[in-house]
Amino acid sequence: MESAPNCAICNAPAYPECPCEAERLQIAVKQAEHRAMEPRLAEIRDWVIAHSRQHILNAFHNLSSTRKQAHYAYLSRLPNYSIYMQFSGHPPIHPTYLHQLQVQIAEAHADLKRGIDADWKASVLRYPEVLDYFYSLIELRIPSDSSPRVSEPPFAIAGYADQGYDHSRLGNEVKKKKKRRDREGSAPAYVDDQMITVAGRALRHPPPVPTPPIQPGGYSRPPGYSF
Ligand SMILES: [Zn+2]
Repeated sequence: MESAPNCAICNAPAYPECPCEAERLQIAVKQAEHRAMEPRLAEIRDWVIAHSRQHILNAFHNLSSTRKQAHYAYLSRLPNYSIYMQFSGHPPIHPTYLHQLQVQIAEAHADLKRGIDADWKASVLRYPEVLDYFYSLIELRIPSDSSPRVSEPPFAIAGYADQGYDHSRLGNEVKKKKKRRDREGSAPAYVDDQMITVAGRALRHPPPVPTPPIQPGGYSRPPGYSF
């Protein structure tokens, strides 16, 4: 217990525990989650919206085309409709019949318009259900604890000597560090303070090495970290 390091933030003794590290960890987790998840969430969102929209449009097209067919079938059954069409709306029939037909056509068009509006509304109201369906097709997978990438992450392979994990530089960094260590002929003297914060304090295990991380001149943090 005496070997537990002081608070990395305020330097208070390890016991009783102060809230600094837990608070900073929470912030760091939020930031990491944002960096890791936001681009993927955006990609998933675009995919879900694109597919949902397509199916909503298909549903609307099905409804409205059935309705249009019924509409034109109805018009074609109206008395004098074919001669009305044949004479482009000016058929040689009695004005009373023409007026009656015009009223029926106008009513049918108004019905069609209302029906199409209702079809569109019914289609759009299905969005929650359709969005749920496409979101349900997304698979989020947590790797197995026995996966080598989990049990032997690059920083473990590098002896916890690397300063932060960077996808793009990873291969080079590990090699460089290894060379440097070979040249210096010694194992790294300290464990990265970040690792201790996570593995030692926040997770309430003793740190993996008894020496607390002491770096004169303060800590150098990779950009984007809050502590
Ligand atoms: Zn503290």
